[in-house]
Formats: sequence, C-alpha cells, structure tokens
Amino acid sequence: MTIYTDTKRNTPLAMVVDDDRALRKIMTSALKRSGLDVIEADNGTRGVEQFNAERPDIVLMDVVMPGMDGFEACRQIRQSPEGKYVQILMVTGVEDIEAAEKAFEAGANDFVAKPFNLTMMGQRVQYMLRAGQAFRELHISRSRLAKTQELARIGNWQVDLKTGQFHCSKEACQLLGLDQGARNLTIDHFLGPIVPEDKNQATEDIETALREKKSTTIEYRIHFPGGLQTHILNKSETIFDEQNQPVLMIGIVQDVTQLKKAEEEIRFLAFYDGLTGLANRSLFMDRLDRAIADSTRKKKHFALLFLDLDHFKRINDTLGHYIGVLLLKKVAQSISSSIRITDSVARMKDPSGQNDPFIARLGGDEFIVLITDLETSGYAALIARRLLKAAPCVHRLEGIDVSINTSIGISVFPEDGTQADTLLKNADPAMYHAKNMGRNTYQYFKNSMNKAALERFSMDRDLKKALIKKEFVLYYQPQLRLSDEKIVGAEALIRWNHPRKGMVPPDHFIPIAEESGIILDINQWVFHTACQQATAWVEKNLPPISVAINLSGYKLASQNIIQTIEDALQSINFATKNIEVEITENILMRDTKATTSVLDKIKNLGLKIALDDFGTGYSSLSYLTSFPFDTIKIDRSFVKGCVSNEKNIVIIKAIIAMGHSLGKKIVAEGIETREQYHFMKQYGCDEAQGYYFSPPVPEEEFAVLLCKGHF
Ligand code: C2E
Ligand code: CA
Ligand code: CA
Repeated sequence: MTIYTDTKRNTPLAMVVDDDRALRKIMTSALKRSGLDVIEADNGTRGVEQFNAERPDIVLMDVVMPGMDGFEACRQIRQSPEGKYVQILMVTGVEDIEAAEKAFEAGANDFVAKPFNLTMMGQRVQYMLRAGQAFRELHISRSRLAKTQELARIGNWQVDLKTGQFHCSKEACQLLGLDQGARNLTIDHFLGPIVPEDKNQATEDIETALREKKSTTIEYRIHFPGGLQTHILNKSETIFDEQNQPVLMIGIVQDVTQLKKAEEEIRFLAFYDGLTGLANRSLFMDRLDRAIADSTRKKKHFALLFLDLDHFKRINDTLGHYIGVLLLKKVAQSISSSIRITDSVARMKDPSGQNDPFIARLGGDEFIVLITDLETSGYAALIARRLLKAAPCVHRLEGIDVSINTSIGISVFPEDGTQADTLLKNADPAMYHAKNMGRNTYQYFKNSMNKAALERFSMDRDLKKALIKKEFVLYYQPQLRLSDEKIVGAEALIRWNHPRKGMVPPDHFIPIAEESGIILDINQWVFHTACQQATAWVEKNLPPISVAINLSGYKLASQNIIQTIEDALQSINFATKNIEVEITENILMRDTKATTSVLDKIKNLGLKIALDDFGTGYSSLSYLTSFPFDTIKIDRSFVKGCVSNEKNIVIIKAIIAMGHSLGKKIVAEGIETREQYHFMKQYGCDEAQGYYFSPPVPEEEFAVLLCKGHF
C-alpha cells in the first residue's frame, strides 16, 4: 500500500490541457489571477506526460483534442498511482449531457461547459482544490491508519446487532484467517477460527458484553489451517441508540502473538528453573498458597512430596559439575514422566488440568511435587511409591553410569500444617526420616516427629543397641488395696538408662519402638525381667503380690506375644494369676477378631487382663462386656479432677458401679492427694496407685516398700 504523501506546495499547481492555444491562455491567466501556478499541455498524450512529471493539484481537461482525447487522458491520469486523488475538471462542449456522463465515467470530479464564466471558473477551481485537499488528507490519514494497523497487526470489525451483518476490515480478516472476499459474514464466522479450548469462554465473554452493555477485552487463540496458532487480543464496545438498545458492536482485533511470546519468556525467566525447565521456588510458593486456599474451601487434602537425591553432592564433587547438571536434568525428566503416569492411576483426572501435579526444583538437588485434590492423604504414598519405582537407579551420563537413590518426605495438608512454611518445613524431616530408613523410600511427616526428627530416627538403631547393652530397666509402682492400704501389686514401668541422656521416660521411645518393630524385642525383655523379678521377691520371702505388665497397643494380634509369655512363664515360681497384662483400648479397635483370640489365649494361660487408661479413649461399654477383662484402670486424667469436677465425679461413680456390676476390679491411677485417695475409697474403688503412695521406683526400693507391706 502506498501512502499518498502531500507534496505541500505553497501555491497550488494547475494544468490546462487544451489544443486551442487561445483558450488555454485565457484559462491560464484566469487561474493565475486566482493565485495558482499553471502549466499547459496541448494534447492528451502530453497532458498525461506532464501530469506524471509535475503532479499538478488540479487538471482542466478539454474533451475534444486530436490524438488522445480528454476522456482517455483523464482515465490514464486516474489509473496512474499519483493520479488517484487529483482533481480533474472536464471542459465539455455546450450542453453535452452525454459528454458529462462520459467525463464522470472516466473519473473526472466535475465538468464545466463551454463557454464559461472565467470568474466563476476560478472560484470553482478553488472549491475543488479545497475539496481535493480534504479528500487527500482523509486518504492520507486513512492510509496511515491502515499502515499503522498493518504494522501493529490490528484490524477492526463491527456487527450490526439488529441485522447481524458483520463487517471486518481487510487486516482483521487476515488476522482471523477469514476469507476477505466473502460476503454475508456473521459473528459466527468471526468466532469460527478460535481454538476449541478458548471458544466457549470467548463466546461467553462477548455475549456477556452484549447483555450487560459493557466494553470487553478478551484474548484467545486462532487456529490457521496448517497448524499455525496466533494469539488475538479483541477489544470491543457496544454502541447504543437513543432507546438504549444495543445497535452496533465495534471492535479491534490485534495479533499479540509476539507480545505473548515475550511475556512467556519473561515469565519463564522469573518463574522457571533454567536448568530443568521445572517451576522454580517463586512459582511453587504461589501454587502452594493457591492450593491451601482451594483445599481449605473444598475441604480436601493435598500433599507435598519432597524429593532429595542421596549423595548428590558427592557425585557433583567427584564427577564434576557438568555431570551433576546432566543428572539433575535427567532426574527432572524422570520425575515429570513418572508423575504423569502415576497421577492418572492415583487420582481422578481433572480435565481442566488445573489440578495436575505440579513439579518444582527448589534449588540444589531438591525437587518438590504438589499433588492436590486428594480424597485421603494415603494417595500421596501411592504416588510416592510409584515415583520411586519408576525412577531409574542408574543414569548413563556421558558414558558414565551414575547410580542415584531418591528419598521422599511427604507432608499433608491440613494434617501436617495449614501454612505454606510449616508444610514445607515438615516435609523436610520426613525426607530425612526416609533417608534414614534406607535407600529409595518415602516417609510421611508425623506431628509426633516434629522436632529433632533426625535424632529420633537414629533412635531405633540406638534402641537395638540399648537392648544388647542392657540399658533398659524396670521400675515398679506399688498398687494398694484401698480397704486395708496393703501393697497387693506392682506395675512394671520401663525406663531407658541412656548413657548420655540419663533416664529416658517410656513415652519418648515406646512409640518409635512400636513403629520400627523393636517393640517385639522390648516386650520380650519386659516380660522376662518382670517375671524374674517377681520370682526373686518370692524367693526373698516378700509378701506375694501381682505384677502388672504393659503391652503396647500396636498390632497385638500380629506380635508373637503368646510365645513371649509362654517363654517368660517357664521359670516363674508363682501362680500365673498373679501376672496381669495391661492393654489400652486402641488395641481393641483394630482387628477385633484376632485381638479377641489373643486375649483368650492369654486368659487360657491363666493370666489376668486389665483395661488401661479407661476413660481416655472411646470408653465403650461394649468393650467391657465383649473382651475378657478382669480389671479396669481409671485413667489419671479423671482422678485428677475427681474431687472438684462435677462431671468427673459422676463419671467415676458410674465407672465404678458399672465395673462392679460386671464383676471387674477397679484400679484408680495417679492418686496424688489425700482427697483423691479418700474419694476413691469412699466410692468403692478397689485399688489405687499414684505418687501419693509412691512413684515408680527401682526394684531394691520396691523391695523395701514391699517389706513394710502397707502405707
Ligand atoms: P501407664 O501404663 O498409664 O502408666 C502409668 C504412668 O503414670 C507411668 O508413667 C507412671 O509413672 C505415671 N504415674 C504413676 N502415678 C502417678 C501420679 O500420681 N501422677 C502422675 N502424674 N503420674 C503418675 P511412665 O512410667 O512414664 O509410663 C508412661 C507410659 O508408658 C505408661 O502409661 C505405658 O503406657 C507406657 N509404658 C511404661 N512401661 C511400659 C512397658 O514396659 N511396655 C510398654 N509397652 N509400655 C510401657
Ligand atoms: Ca499401665
Ligand atoms: Ca494407665
């Protein structure tokens, strides 16, 4: 497209084309009097040549000339690129209507019949020059606009909302891939080339804009045959008539593909890790915040899988940074691909893709996967397991086989934290825990392992050693019969005499022992030691008492507890009815059938069974009737408030009455004051233990108490 440039003469230039020399001179001098410069040509051919050379602003063209006539010359001038917008005044013969018509056909702007009034002609020429100027300016600004639009890749369009008639500028048609020649375009044609993923939204936005009579700005992608895709920015406005009815929607479309690309590049630099192409920490934090908000609203879980490569630093140091980088890239690829496979198995796929697992590299060799929309936190383990399974243990890098193990720590929202930093912080010790558990494994964060997780998980190794090095000891706490204050029993309570930490209370290591399975060995040791101790007291002729032994509440049915008990009973010198096994309610809640069978076997060996910590768990009456308990131990939290707290008083009275009616013995734990002691006695509790009488003590001290016999 050429831009019609204004030559900006100070004085307009006219050209008179006439074969009649006299007439030419008259016209020339008349035009000069009106303030114009004038050039002359004496026939059509020369007129065209002169025009091309001088580019006059107005041409006065005689019709009848020898050679090329005025019509032909006019046509040729019009067809030249420079002549499109020049003013041409045809000078015709008298009243020649036919000539006037032909003049317009040839492209003349106006005509004047001979003979003519010279003054009038001067004015008409002035008028035509002004009109021509305006016309030219309009054209210049239009062509500039068109050029600008072309450069900016902008096009404009409009829809007549009454008729549905649609108009699209040439540039807009190009941008939207519409056929420029096509007539009867509709808004459907306009929306037609939008890619399916963006179409609904775009249509909806435009419809909303119409309904709400608003201007709108939308972006969508256009698909071209051959696979090219462009990004289009569409701004539109609705025009209303006096009745406030929408009549027209006008808009522009702009190709913003380049802009998008640049934006994406900037975004990439800001939010992605250049090394692996995964998200970086900033983007991850943003997603994490979003996940927290979403999951809170939807009441769903999400999990953070914190992946760490074991010994990455060593690989980096020994094989070099270059191999280290290659390894990180490989690992990133492997996580991405296995997550894709894994996810489709573990969760319902979300078609929007918004809830896809999100993978980021936080720096160094730390990767993190965010998995949202989990029905239960258990799915995270499924994904972790599959991730570990899919991750190759050996990567071949530049001809070198590099073996690598991955440890995964899992923290789950909201169980392990409701804030981004807590969740991140908690995934970390879980990961260390996993590292400690051995190669290629995962671990959940547990609230209990909050602090010093590392320390704790080096603990189960220490526990094994403690057994060998005989660092465990049993303390004994006397149990008194309330009717006569005689010591009738002892509860064996384990302690760990740690070489550095001193006496470690059982709460600090029993849960870990349960988790790691060492509890089986500990149970065995406790049973043996307690039984041997009781035998020793009998042999020292101390008054016969019963011994209470705590059995941990973890997978009782799967422990070989019967074998342990039978072994311990081998060398005792007293009746098995003097051994009482204490178990807590939580044992009863899992695997009821198997547990009942274990408890029955314990009973068959002649031992007694106590329900420990009664009142803290479900305290279900059905447990009392359906399991073979002999004793109920009222938890010390109830005993604590028994004198002052009305509710506790009622509960304790009820437990005692009910227990007695079922033929059970009632033992109160944690008696610390005289008042508590009297209260229990008054309401018929059978036995009690607590600091009021004695804390748990080493066996020699216990022997002294037993020797005395009562308080
Ligand atoms: P538990 O079976 O409820 O044991 C009673 C706990 O209450 C003991 O804590 C005891 O020292 C404490 N206690 C006794 N009288 C009072 C009192 O008047 N006031 C207060 N505040 N506390 C009192 P300990 O020895 O620290 O044991 C804690 C828990 O560890 C036990 O609770 C038991 O569940 C577990 N445990 C102890 N020994 C063993 C064992 O040999 N094997 C297993 N599996 N668990 C054990
Ligand atoms: Ca106990
Ligand atoms: Ca207890």
